[in-house]
Amino acid sequence: MRAEIISVGTELLLGMIVDTNAVYLAQQLARLGIDLYYISAIGDNLERLSEGAARAFARSDLTIFTGGLGPTEDDLTRDAIARALGEELALDPELEAAQRAFWQRRNLPMPARNLVQAQLIPSARPLPNPLGTAPGWWVELPSGGIAVALPGVPHEMERMWEQEVVPRLRERGATGVLLTRTLKILGKGESAVEEAVRPWLKSTNPTIATYAKADGIHLRLSAKAASQEEAAALLAAFERQVRPAVEADVYGVDDETIGAVIARFLGARRFALADALTAGGLSATLVQTPTLAARFAGGLVAAGPTVAWAQAAGPPGAAETAVVLAERARQQFQAEVGIGISGVAGPEPVAAVAPGTIALALVDDGSFSQTLTRSSTPADVRRWAGYAALNLIWRALSGRPLS
Ligand code: ATP
Ligand code: MG
Repeated sequence: MRAEIISVGTELLLGMIVDTNAVYLAQQLARLGIDLYYISAIGDNLERLSEGAARAFARSDLTIFTGGLGPTEDDLTRDAIARALGEELALDPELEAAQRAFWQRRNLPMPARNLVQAQLIPSARPLPNPLGTAPGWWVELPSGGIAVALPGVPHEMERMWEQEVVPRLRERGATGVLLTRTLKILGKGESAVEEAVRPWLKSTNPTIATYAKADGIHLRLSAKAASQEEAAALLAAFERQVRPAVEADVYGVDDETIGAVIARFLGARRFALADALTAGGLSATLVQTPTLAARFAGGLVAAGPTVAWAQAAGPPGAAETAVVLAERARQQFQAEVGIGISGVAGPEPVAAVAPGTIALALVDDGSFSQTLTRSSTPADVRRWAGYAALNLIWRALSGRPLS
């Protein structure tokens, strides 16, 4: 089933509100295994809205509108659907009675305009909206497709989607299950990861995709099937095929964080840090994991090799310097594991791209060190150095070869 979302409202086009309805629905559709092909935003204009509706009905099996269901002149979703289908709007007696009852309960006179919300076309059935006055629409298109019109107000829209639309989609067997598994990778760039999984890139079910994230490259495997069991089996088989191609660089899966993985390998040992490059960025990343924060014995920070102890360790960016720093931190804070990071993040001005050198070391029973270079702005070199350090720490503690 191919779905498309049309978010209705001039507010969206003026940049006054963010289209969170489309974000919510996109996530929902993915979870239900329904392919989403298009998201568009259209203003409160009958011409463009009915054009958009007609185009959607021709190319999509499921069209979801949000917004434009209210009683005012600029709420045009009903009219646009009617026009796109060449059907006439007519007052529905039951909806009219419900509208009148709503206002009676509140002891208020019903504004005449509100009756537009009691209109239907022959192809539409109303979807109840206990949270507001505008019912939604479930429309069976002559082509066999489906259109639904939902309110714009997010909590009304979400309730109607969950309580009214999803059960109807399930009943028609339109939903499936999409399962994903994310392999998290450090020590390889996105293009190298993509190269490693090239044989599977064109696979359509399951699919594979790479995403460059702050904590490394995420390799996302997704499988779609009619049932949970089928999707799980498909995904597991796919992972068994793909995983050997990247296994050397996978530090975790799904919700596992690099901090939690490092904490696991660290066990009961405590670590200390001497940081003459990332200005504390590395410690800030490490302490995001509570179990790791608890093993943090202490740290020295110098934002560059200008501070005496950083200078005394040796030339910035040399592997031996990082080892000296790591050893110093370990002794000063009486920790089992010492981590040193030294380097040059390029000269000011801050925005200029310049070659940076980074040296990393970890000392415990043995000593592991690595030097790297990256040409970028000083801020990016520092950020990147932080993640390179996580890679080295993870590999040193888990006994994986340095990549
Ligand atoms: P109402 O009966 O309140 O007029 P409606 O169905 O006509 O509801 P709109 O008038 O289009 O919906 O939008 C009502 C409010 O809902 C907007 O002012 C905005 O705050 C919110 N809203 C509408 N569309 C979206 C969207 N796509 N994403 C997030 N919020 C939205
Ligand atoms: Mg409105």
